[in-house]
Amino acid sequence: MPELRQNRFTKEWVIMATERAKRPEELRAQREARPSLPHYSDTCPFCPGNERLAPPAVMAIPAHDNWRVRVVPNKFPALAREGQLTRKIERSRRSMNGIGIHDVIVETPDHALTTALLPVEQVAEILRCYRQRFTEVSADPRIAHVTIFKNHGVAAGTSLEHPHAQLIGTPVISSQVRYRVYEALRHYDEFGECIFCEALKEDLEEPARVVLASELFVAVEPFASGTPFATYIYPRRHMASFGDINPAEIIDLAAVLKSVLAKLYVGLRNPDFNYAIRTAPHENAGVLYYHWYVSVIPRLTRIAGFELGSGMFINTVLPEAAAEFLRDINPQDGGPVA
Ligand SMILES: [Zn+2]
Ligand SMILES: [Zn+2]
Repeated sequence: MPELRQNRFTKEWVIMATERAKRPEELRAQREARPSLPHYSDTCPFCPGNERLAPPAVMAIPAHDNWRVRVVPNKFPALAREGQLTRKIERSRRSMNGIGIHDVIVETPDHALTTALLPVEQVAEILRCYRQRFTEVSADPRIAHVTIFKNHGVAAGTSLEHPHAQLIGTPVISSQVRYRVYEALRHYDEFGECIFCEALKEDLEEPARVVLASELFVAVEPFASGTPFATYIYPRRHMASFGDINPAEIIDLAAVLKSVLAKLYVGLRNPDFNYAIRTAPHENAGVLYYHWYVSVIPRLTRIAGFELGSGMFINTVLPEAAAEFLRDINPQDGGPVA
């Protein structure tokens, strides 16, 4: 019989359709292996030597030539970088002018190397760059919230194949983010603990959904996962804001993030995926009740009418089965164990 599970952080219900459940191996079998990319493309605005095709850099590591990570303003930004915020209220209509920051983070000079294939030190460099831009953009008084995310592959919404992530600083906090912060606060007021720290402790005691645990981070399949192989990476130390990550945690997270993405790359044959850093808004930095994490979502299924109409997801892969499958994959071997 199918099972309904509730996401304790959002109160959303998910249908675990065990009757129509696919085994993880079957999802992988449906995928075609994709052709490998060249290491350089002369029309790519993010390849070294083509810098003139993109707007001037906001920052680079190192700052001179031979950069390893580079940040440029998005050429087609969702929000305008310059200007003052004005809020308009006309009868029932509320609006604002679209001010914000929209960066592209070019993650490697190599056109072909997705995160799963990068050295851990390069992934750490990328995370250092995320943190620096996160801190700088958060300090802009016009910005209320910063989201850092990556789209990999067409199903995940990317149009450029060169490995890159994006940062969008918005002048408002979305109602979804607000609601999660409120729910976490409500839990804290009732039980006197961070709901995320508590869930993490429980997951480590009953590790059926743990994919891997390092010294400073833990990767788990959430109990009420809405989509197959959704993986959350939590810092063990309580921190509300991504901006509070320390240098040792950056190196540890780099290894864990690379490892999770390499397991997906090998186990599910380089699936399209998104990841996003879900952090407390700037105004909630330092609070005891919210806890940031990285949400990695492989795009193996499509959102269809029921999801749109009800706000409920149907997941055909049990998180426990997904965790077991991913635990058994050793990317160094090039495939699933056994
Ligand atoms: Zn390129
Ligand atoms: Zn916590």
